[in-house]
Amino acid sequence: MGKIAENLEKVKSNITEACARSRRATGDVKLVVVTKSANVDAIKEVVNLGYSDLGENRVQHLKLVAEEIGEYLEQGESQSLPAKINWHMIGHLQRNKSKQVLKITDFIHSVDTLRLAEEIDKASAKAGVNPKILLQVNCSLEPQKYGVPVGAAVHLAEQIAEMGNVRLCGIMTMGPLTRDKDLVRVSFVRAREIFEEIHKEGFSPKDFVHMSMGMSADYEIAVEEGATILRVGSAIFS
Ligand SMILES: *Cc1c(COP(=O)(O)O)cnc(C)c1O
Repeated sequence: MGKIAENLEKVKSNITEACARSRRATGDVKLVVVTKSANVDAIKEVVNLGYSDLGENRVQHLKLVAEEIGEYLEQGESQSLPAKINWHMIGHLQRNKSKQVLKITDFIHSVDTLRLAEEIDKASAKAGVNPKILLQVNCSLEPQKYGVPVGAAVHLAEQIAEMGNVRLCGIMTMGPLTRDKDLVRVSFVRAREIFEEIHKEGFSPKDFVHMSMGMSADYEIAVEEGATILRVGSAIFS
């Protein structure tokens, strides 16, 4: 088994164990393989193993690899290749790039302002699509982080839920950059509280089911605190 396959097995078994600890079904947790630091051959290896949810944080790189991997799938040399890739845009998005992103993906994790949501909604109307979006919340309270401040999250969710083209499917957050596992957990618990509060307010659409949280350093804690989508890169590619 190659290094990447081995890493993926390890990540998957850690997820399974974290699910067991927290009495969750493994099927309720989706792994998005973050390819931003991987070369195309490494990404092909992941795809060959049957993984079809891939994440990128920059529009330029997303366009590049989506095209290369798309061509690779068309050649269809191996049985285990998925029919298509679900790309996830997980990084900060500039408003003027919304249209380009919508051509490639219908899942944007990083919506954190009203203006960005409005722009995506407008571009979606023009393109005739209904993308899934997540509200990125700054649950770690670090000032340099992207994400709507905790105190403004519910109101912004309500405004986005009223838009006609985008589908608000949940929230996304990034854990704090620290080795202190308790601090990480506090941040994920805060995310879950906001998620539940938005549910309680009653305006959330039926698609509002996802919590995208957990990266290489903290995905097991994220599973324990209710994550439904994990975004893992370096633990797989290094
Ligand atoms: C890079 C990145 C990840 C993955 O981080 P790793 O530590 O490499 O697992 C997850 N989410 C976002 C938004 C990222 O930019």
